[in-house]
This record gives sequence, C-alpha cells and structure tokens, in this order.
Amino acid sequence: MTAVAPDDLVLAVDVGGTTIKAEITDVAGTVLTTGTVATPRGEAAFDAMGDIGAKLLAELPQHLRDRVTRAAVVVPGIVDPDQGLAVFSSNIGWRDVKVGNRFPDRWGFPVLFEHDVAVAGWAEWRYGAGRGHDDVCVVILGTGISGTLSVDGRLVRGAAGQAGEYGHIPVRHRDGLPCPCGSIGCVETVASGAAIARAYTARTGREISGAEEVFADLDTDPDARHVVDDAVDALAEGLFGAIHATCPDLIVLGGGLAGAGAALTGALQGRFDKLLKVATPPRVVLGEFGARAGLVGAAYYARVGALQ
Ligand SMILES: [Zn+2]
Repeated sequence: MTAVAPDDLVLAVDVGGTTIKAEITDVAGTVLTTGTVATPRGEAAFDAMGDIGAKLLAELPQHLRDRVTRAAVVVPGIVDPDQGLAVFSSNIGWRDVKVGNRFPDRWGFPVLFEHDVAVAGWAEWRYGAGRGHDDVCVVILGTGISGTLSVDGRLVRGAAGQAGEYGHIPVRHRDGLPCPCGSIGCVETVASGAAIARAYTARTGREISGAEEVFADLDTDPDARHVVDDAVDALAEGLFGAIHATCPDLIVLGGGLAGAGAALTGALQGRFDKLLKVATPPRVVLGEFGARAGLVGAAYYARVGALQ
C-alpha cells in the first residue's frame, strides 16, 4: 500500500494482554481522540477492537471523520499478516482467527493488520531511537522479550515473518528455568519483566508489584542488584549471536521495562564492551516511544502503508 496524503488522519489500534488502546492522529502525531478498553478473552477481542474504532470515529466531528482514510490494527502472538490471520495468542486465548474484512466493513476504509512487536520495533528503528541507522536490533522488553532486526536498511522478517524472537534464545549460564514456549533456559525466563519480579520474590520472599520496583531499589538493595545483574547477563548473552551474525551498530531497548532507563542501558553496554572481542560492541540506547511503541508504530504503519 502507498502512503496516505499528508492531510489524512489515521486510526491506530494496539491490542495488549490487558487493554486495547486506540487513537486517531494527524501527520504530526497529534492525538485527536483516544480510548482504552479491557481486552476480552478469545475471539471476542476482535469485536472489542471493532467497537473501540467505531467509538473513536463517532467522537470526531464529521469534517474530521471524513479525513480518516486508513487504520492499522496490531496484535500480539503469532500473526500471518499476508493471510489476515491471527494465528495464536496464548495470552488472550485465540487461535486461527480470520480477520478478513471485518474492520474495513465496520469503519469504511482500508485496514492493515500486523504483529505488535514487528510494528513497534520498526517504528523505533525508522522514527525513534534508531532513525538514521541501517543496522539495528530493537529489543522490546516487557512481560516477554522480542523485537526486530534491521540489516542494511531493511527490516528482516524471516520465512514465517517471525524474526526477532530474542526472548527464546537459550542461555547457558542459567540452571534452566522452564519457559512458557515449552523450552528450558530461554532468555526471557531470566530477563523479562515477569522473570525479574519472580526472581526477586523467590530470593527475598517479598511480594512486589513488578520489575519496576526492583529497578527502583537498585542502588540500595543488594538483592535487587543481584537479580538485575543476572537478567542483564542473560540478555547480553542472548544477543551475542545476533550481534556476531549481523554486526548492528545500535541496540535499542524499547517497551515498558525500558523505563528502567540508564540502569539497563549502562549495564548492558558494560557487558558488551567487556565481553565482545571480535564484533565491535554496538551502542545501547533507550527507545523513544516506551510502552507506547505499538500504538505509535501502528499510526506510522497506517500512514506509510508498508514496513519499509
Ligand atoms: Zn522460550
């Protein structure tokens, strides 16, 4: 698809495990209207996506409503964008949902459908912290870990469109915790937000609200420091293969957990500088869109029409 006209408005819908977020934006990224709704389980989530889009469109005055010409809907799990198929989401609980024309029929304009992390990583690369660079790994840190890989100015999708599953690379320095994917010792069993929170509670017996609390106490709590050091070791080790294979000059840490900021980028940079002997250590930077990368990316994707 080609780009929409600069005057056109776009609708972006980002589906997460707990909430569906949507907004209508102009070419400058200004939000004209926005909404959030809890994500229903199973295929009912698709009705909720259609509903929130229709609600936002109805909120606009007619002259603005007429300028909305395209949408992008991004969802988690395994996605087949070419077939318009939501293959699988363990979190939300759908399998083989045919998206078909349900959104265009409802909203009245073309709708792109994609994987949330592919779009989030692409946006960080092209418009966020990675812009201007041709060789970039974007690692989206959240409940799980995945991302995108750009090589020679091109977004790598792989045969099944699934390139960038950094979270399921096995790491050897761990005892080997079971991963939801069915394997043992994946990066995200140690380095995801959920894993960091779990490891901290296992070590201290203290219940916490999430990994953000562990990062907040880094300077004063040796247990927090230990758990985060472990996570950064696993993340560094998991990225070594991609670094040696593709020689990126930039690693962008995006997603919700990237709110940990300099504590995370500095620690990972330190591992790379110390441990990489052959490949040039890439520079580690924070993403610019944080937890909003999926939604911001969906708006860019709707506007541009292709992940290029
Ligand atoms: Zn795994």
